[in-house]
Amino acid sequence: MVTNVEAMIRDIKKYALENKIPIIQDEGIDFLTTFLIQKQIKNVLEIGTAIGYSAIMMALASPNLKITTIERDETRYLEAVKNIKKFQLEDRITLIFHDALEVNIEGEFDLIFIDAAKGQNIHFFEKYEKNLSKSGYIITDNMNFHGLVEKEENEIPSRNLRALVRKIKEYREFLENNQNYQVEFLNIGDGLAVARKE
Ligand code: SAH
Ligand code: MG
Repeated sequence: MVTNVEAMIRDIKKYALENKIPIIQDEGIDFLTTFLIQKQIKNVLEIGTAIGYSAIMMALASPNLKITTIERDETRYLEAVKNIKKFQLEDRITLIFHDALEVNIEGEFDLIFIDAAKGQNIHFFEKYEKNLSKSGYIITDNMNFHGLVEKEENEIPSRNLRALVRKIKEYREFLENNQNYQVEFLNIGDGLAVARKE
């Protein structure tokens, strides 16, 4: 049974690699799953499901955890539906096929995991903080964006990438200056920001 689950996880990772789907790095998901358990997180709102990898890993790590996750790309959403069924996690993972900036989500979550369009992080944060429980956490992935965030502008090959990196830096400042949250930036995986509501 355990080995079967491991093989299924390997298959998802292989699919992600082959189809260039940017799933969270091993170090990042290890941190996140440990964090969930340590902080006794009961429910998670995830922005950016892709094919369900991070949601599945979180659900497997914490047996009573419930996850609501939003994805706007139909192909990925359908792949996520399939994967979550394979793991029989339909009762704990709710998939929402929608643009996260347009849909409205009810309820409160102990943890919000932002892992969608990297230029939109401030918008996701501002839209969804109303769904954060008292002293909940907002964790954001890809704060280093493959090491590009620490590079000089002239070292970044394309205009689009430069614009994206600028957005990530703006988000970083937005978090640092946000009086309602205590923020830590961790050099784990592709860089994680952990914001705790005070
Ligand atoms: N969390 C996943 C990876 C997500 S990749 C994992 O680690 O396994 C980012 C995903 O966010 C992409 O599939 C992209 O389609 C989706 N996305 C980007 N902007 C979005 C938006 N505004 N609403 C919903 N999904 C979005
Ligand atoms: Mg990511």
